[in-house]
Amino acid sequence: MKPVSLYIVIPCYNEQDVLPITAPMFLQKIESLIAQGLCSEDSKVLFVNDGSRDNTWNIIRNLAKQNPKFSGITLSRNRGHQNALLAGLMHAKELCDVTISIDCDGQDDINAMDEMMRQFHDGCDVVYGVRSKRDTDTFFKRFTAESFYKFMKIMGAETVFNHADYRLMSKRALDGLAEFREVNLFLRGTVPLVGYKSTSVYYERNERIAGESHYPFSKMLNLALNGITSLSTKPLRYITSIGLIMAFISFLFIVWAIVARIAGHTVAGWTSIVGIMALIGGIQLFCLGIIGEYIGKIYSEVKQRPKYIIEATTDEE
Ligand code: UDP
Ligand code: MG
Repeated sequence: MKPVSLYIVIPCYNEQDVLPITAPMFLQKIESLIAQGLCSEDSKVLFVNDGSRDNTWNIIRNLAKQNPKFSGITLSRNRGHQNALLAGLMHAKELCDVTISIDCDGQDDINAMDEMMRQFHDGCDVVYGVRSKRDTDTFFKRFTAESFYKFMKIMGAETVFNHADYRLMSKRALDGLAEFREVNLFLRGTVPLVGYKSTSVYYERNERIAGESHYPFSKMLNLALNGITSLSTKPLRYITSIGLIMAFISFLFIVWAIVARIAGHTVAGWTSIVGIMALIGGIQLFCLGIIGEYIGKIYSEVKQRPKYIIEATTDEE
């Protein structure tokens, strides 16, 4: 095996309770990977501070002072998990041959990294970490998360089932990813579009070691909506279908009304008219909402604002 330098990229937002626990675990992992010859001596753990309001950045700076295997960058403000991760990956790709991204809360089994690195040496450019089961999640979290993947699929946004952002990417896959210039970013959907040989590695997901999740139901819904509207225009096509179906039903109603008129039944029909109007009004508003979502997205793409701004790195200190 040729020596390759690995960067483990970890986005952190208000993680002062977790970092002191998980940082030594990541360090241990990278040392064991080096010992096995899976990566070279200059491999590192790279933390991305996503504009945390607590002590996270100070903790990262201290870690970097204590051990050269730790390094960090900090963003100018909180930009959300996806952008923070992208910032870390784009920063890392100039410094290493391969990256593995993982959350900092210890939920994803770091021991899967060994297998990921082996797959990389076997010629894979992208290796997805996939959860084999979700026993430790609450029923609600599991149900909403699994519905999320299924709904995404129906809506035309293909993603790897039960894969979050725990994945290995080679430098050339990252160079490919950098070519995708969209501002509204959904990495799980975009990485498969980059292509190259890929595979999956399975692991069990644990409970968060400390702190709490930043992905409550509302944020998940947001992520799903963003994922769908970024990756597919199927919802717009569904609107067309709904329109056609409604037009057909209306036509049947007109035929029925004419027949009833000829047959001499005077229609008392206030209720039915109000009902139908309300129904059609509802559908129209819903459809306008979906179209609005896409227009909003076009608007933010057109502005081409930066996805993140790096304020400082630990290398400068
Ligand atoms: N995170 C981030 N920016 C944010 C929210 C979260 O960088 O605005 C990080 C967070 O520190 C963690 C990862 O993204 O490392 C996943 O977040 P979390 O564990 O809260 O989500 P969950 O695992 O519950 O879906
Ligand atoms: Mg988590």
